[in-house]
Amino acid sequence: MYDFIIVGGGIAGLELGALLSHDGYSLLVIEQAEHTGGRTFVHSKDGFELDNGIHLVRFGRKSAVANVLRQIGKEIRFQPLGKSYVIDKNNRFILFPTGPSGFLTSGLFTFSERLKALRIMIGLKRGSDEGFKRYTVEEWMQGAGVRGGLKRYFNLVCASMLVCPLPSVASAQALAENITMVLKTGISVEYPAHGWQKDILVPLIDAIRENGEIRTGLKVDSVIIENGRASGVKTKDGILNAKNIIIDMPSQELGRILDIKQIKDERLKTAAGLVPTSGISIDYAIDGHISDINGLLYLEDPVSFGCFVSNLSSDTAPAGKSLLTWFCPVHNEDMKQQNKIKEYQQQLENRIEGLFPQLKTKTLFKRVLRLNTVDGVELNISQLRDKRMDYRIRGIDNLYLVGDTTAAPGAGGDIAHESSMECYRAIKERLSSKDNR
Ligand SMILES: Cc1cc2nc3c(=O)[nH]c(=O)nc-3n(C[C@H](O)[C@H](O)[C@H](O)COP(=O)(O)OP(=O)(O)OC[C@H]3O[C@@H](n4cnc5c(N)ncnc54)[C@H](O)[C@@H]3O)c2cc1C
Repeated sequence: MYDFIIVGGGIAGLELGALLSHDGYSLLVIEQAEHTGGRTFVHSKDGFELDNGIHLVRFGRKSAVANVLRQIGKEIRFQPLGKSYVIDKNNRFILFPTGPSGFLTSGLFTFSERLKALRIMIGLKRGSDEGFKRYTVEEWMQGAGVRGGLKRYFNLVCASMLVCPLPSVASAQALAENITMVLKTGISVEYPAHGWQKDILVPLIDAIRENGEIRTGLKVDSVIIENGRASGVKTKDGILNAKNIIIDMPSQELGRILDIKQIKDERLKTAAGLVPTSGISIDYAIDGHISDINGLLYLEDPVSFGCFVSNLSSDTAPAGKSLLTWFCPVHNEDMKQQNKIKEYQQQLENRIEGLFPQLKTKTLFKRVLRLNTVDGVELNISQLRDKRMDYRIRGIDNLYLVGDTTAAPGAGGDIAHESSMECYRAIKERLSSKDNR
């Protein structure tokens, strides 16, 4: 009998497991894959450490994942990004603003667009996001008279920050909240100095092993619910029992292990239908060093962004070699159309390889991933926090949810990290109120 069983060893499950184990609770993490990490899994090949697509940490040293690591006594160093650029049709590199001074110097804007950008940013920093509520990014841009270079800028921010290539779908409120966080923390994104594996995944796994266990290659078939309580999980190896069960799975998949009809929480039905973000990721493992750029590179044709990851952390490529990762967000509906995807991919590869012609001769290997789920939830106007599940399932006291489809703040991985902290607080609150009874 464990104190906790955690179903799923994605980053949110690992973070929550590390926090609970660090507090002395006994726990078991059960992961169906042969490895933990879920969508943050790092694939090692020929000395290269390939993240599962570009994996930058929003708000870096001020992020929730940094706070989790701090709480378990592991302070890590984050590498800030250098200058970012948008590359136009003629392959000109134009500074892409990542802070207020960038708006004054970037060649992307006219004088009046610069002033408008600063006015919008000042308003957001003061927390006045009223004009954004209920609108899509496109509607907001139209209403606010955002045009020209400023429109190009917000289209790209929408694609990278919300992983949504369609401003006509993405929520202006979600965009505003995330930009406000960037302005408040002074950090857009950073990268763990020694990469995800060494700096984030290994310390979390070590912390779990202080008082807990991890079983990989074992799938949970169902959660057992008896008399309004979760008592354990069924697996091919038999039933495993715990005082509390935590599920770290995208909420679209909960129906695979929970009998949703039996549970009287209407929100589960909406959660099952959430639309995720999707896209195409391409890694180039390169023989040699072909660029010093250590910020993000944006393209508008197709809308996509890339990064020389090895310029952020030399641990991600062998000495004298480099790693370039590019990501093209594709709307989930389009992802289902094989021909369209093939076309996007070809267009993307042509554009990247045209930009860096050395790739033709220096690529050691290339990895292409077509991903149906990138972030668990697309931040469109119907899927904001109030439409998602929180960390408790109504009517079942000892069953918790964590992960990037919950109602935690942020976008993408940040939702996952925030959810682990918030779920941890919800657990501690419930346990302390039980003790006090
Ligand atoms: C290409 C790509 C790029 C991204 N870039 C960024 C980025 O730059 N910044 C950022 O913040 N975020 C980024 N993300 C998003 C981020 O990776 C996710 O938000 C985060 O990893 C989600 O973690 P999770 O724990 O909620 O879910 P998951 O990682 O999905 O974990 C769920 C786990 O549960 C396991 N599981 C499922 N069913 C069962 C079962 N029945 N029994 C046992 N185990 C089960 C799964 O195998 C999985 O390991 C990116 C994602 C992708 C794919």
